Amino acid sequence: MRKCLFPCLVTILLSASCKKPLAEQGRATATAKYIDAFTWVQNGTMPLVISVPHGGTLAPDSIADRTCPNITTAVDTYTVELVKAIDSVAKQDYQFQPFIVLTQLRRIKLDQNRDLPEATCSTPFKYMYWSNFHNAIDSSINTVLAKYPSCLYIDLHGHGHPIQRLELGYLISKAQLQNISSVTIGNTSVRALAVQNGGQTLANLITGSNSFGSIMQAKGFPTVPSAAMPFPAVADDYFDGGYNTARYTNRANVFGFQIESNYTGVRATAAQRAQFAKAFMQSVVQYCTANTNLSPSTFGE
Ligand SMILES: [Zn+2]
Repeated sequence: MRKCLFPCLVTILLSASCKKPLAEQGRATATAKYIDAFTWVQNGTMPLVISVPHGGTLAPDSIADRTCPNITTAVDTYTVELVKAIDSVAKQDYQFQPFIVLTQLRRIKLDQNRDLPEATCSTPFKYMYWSNFHNAIDSSINTVLAKYPSCLYIDLHGHGHPIQRLELGYLISKAQLQNISSVTIGNTSVRALAVQNGGQTLANLITGSNSFGSIMQAKGFPTVPSAAMPFPAVADDYFDGGYNTARYTNRANVFGFQIESNYTGVRATAAQRAQFAKAFMQSVVQYCTANTNLSPSTFGE
């Protein structure tokens, strides 16, 4: 039986009609399609945009491998499946769905978390796929901001680091995290969030009890940074956020972070992905309620 877990009066009122199709409930419906051979875009019904740049596994011979120097080509295994699990939970338990932009093209062909020259190794044939992906993120954010006062943007990845924990990237380096009071909020991916929370310190926004890391940690998913782990140890591997996080959280009224998910316990099996998706959606609602000018009771309308 489908459940309405969303803890607010609106959902209690709606719960009696939860089994009806969304349209009959007067709820918005998400639509999704491929906008080219590899780029899949979902037009969502809530102010959350998730991009998945490194989960693709298609590697047709007709598209040359990238061969420019010093590039990374590792696939973030099962991150496409992970965002689909998130979408499933959102639809079934909340009756609203995120905007999603993902590529099915393998990273050795195109890197959708780099600027154009490195992403394509300057191969003009690939420019269209790069532009389609990024234009779709931009236009998803535009759609959100036409309806909501702000937008949560998440760039979803998977890391291969030995410590099995989520790494949240706020464009704050490992060294800076150890001395967070010296970091300028305006240089981070939560600058728009800071505008909404004038009294909150950066440390509170990323390691306080209502930070995304602390909320996920409390749901059983170890996360750095969080109240429990404010920064990685000097010797630890850590990703602090890449091209997409910097590009899209630089827009007015857009805040967010990169999520680098661990494999064991999050991505490895369908059951783990479903369990993560539940915690993730609960955390998004809790995070928006506690920190932002967004009201989850209005999502999906
Ligand atoms: Zn990645």
